[in-house]
Amino acid sequence: MKRRVAVIGATGSIGRQTADVLAANPDRFETVLVTAHENEKELERAAARVGAKKWALTSKTPLSVLTDTDIDIAVIAASGSGIIREVYELAKRGITIAIANKESIVAAGKFITAASKESGGLIIPVDSEHSAVFQCLKGNEQKYAAKLILTASGGAFRSFTPAELKKVTVKQATEHPNWKMGKKISVDSATMMNKGLELIEARYLFDIPPDKLDAVIHPESMVHSFVVFTDSSVLAQIASADMRIPIAYALGYPERINSCAKGVDFSLPFNLTFYPPEKGKYPCFELAKAVLIGDRQADMIVLNAANEAAVSAFLDNKIGFIDIKGVVEKVLNNEYNLYSEPNDIDGVLEIDRRTRTRAKEILEKN
Ligand code: NDP
Ligand code: MG
Repeated sequence: MKRRVAVIGATGSIGRQTADVLAANPDRFETVLVTAHENEKELERAAARVGAKKWALTSKTPLSVLTDTDIDIAVIAASGSGIIREVYELAKRGITIAIANKESIVAAGKFITAASKESGGLIIPVDSEHSAVFQCLKGNEQKYAAKLILTASGGAFRSFTPAELKKVTVKQATEHPNWKMGKKISVDSATMMNKGLELIEARYLFDIPPDKLDAVIHPESMVHSFVVFTDSSVLAQIASADMRIPIAYALGYPERINSCAKGVDFSLPFNLTFYPPEKGKYPCFELAKAVLIGDRQADMIVLNAANEAAVSAFLDNKIGFIDIKGVVEKVLNNEYNLYSEPNDIDGVLEIDRRTRTRAKEILEKN
């Protein structure tokens, strides 16, 4: 029996790489649904590429297209937290979720993972660091995991001076040295907010307390994360920087399938470098880490929504690259501890909505 796959966000970077993996494994998968947000032309092309019978624009179609389709596995390749409700509904139905979208887990991971657990579903990470942790934890009881250490490339501007950072353009910030990604995540990688969001993502995907999570800079992006066990043994997962590897892992799980990716070339010498993030160098990462340690879901929702608003303003040339941190911080300070913890997914969406309104006001005054 072929697995029935839905690709949510089929026109983006992860969506297109998912299509590569699906096309390389035609005997395993039948793509039943692809979605995009607005880009109809690209969506038609994406549907044709994977032979999808149904396609839908999420900006126009209500949620029912997802809930009415028989799906075994949904790849969540959409960007941003606009997809929270959809991911939650899929989790409630017990559908296997291959999750690339980190914003939904940062904001609503608690309810999404609980809904999936209750319905007997499965959530398999696609984000490369979390895929690495997931793979390293296999065959080990999680109680023996003392620490999860996520690796970070250090961003495109690792070696920039503060004066150089001031002049960073949108073009520079959307071109990552090791990975080819969508605009929002490229900017997040450059500010290192991405690593902060990923620590929070790990907190929920692996149900692990904040003090057991950390990050290390690793410019080569070959080791995708470490798990430190209670006996001081450390496992790592190594692969070339190609998202098709974690996508194929999630689609094929528990089997290993053709990812189309190039393997690591052991015939040539190579070095791997690791060092802790320098204090003061990555203020967005530090903001996110403080929110992680505070361990309040409401503040995580605020952080995520404020960051989306700030990055979007930067991409629209309304603020500079170094202003992103200031905007996020201002919104955070405004809303910090303002909301009580949400009781359900509607509560999450309400905090998200109110934060965006506040961020808009702050950006207009900027
Ligand atoms: P892209 O910007 O390349 O693609 C985004 C996709 O989502 C497009 O198909 C877009 O449709 C769709 N979309 C945009 N807004 C919405 C919305 N509100 N509701 C539903 N769909 C929407 O992003 P990426 O592929 O780079 O990233 C996708 C997710 O995966 C992000 O959360 C990112 O953090 C995560 N991720 C990405 C990695 C990468 O290498 N790219 C690595 C690890 C994680 P349309 O074309 O119509 O706008
Ligand atoms: Mg990642």
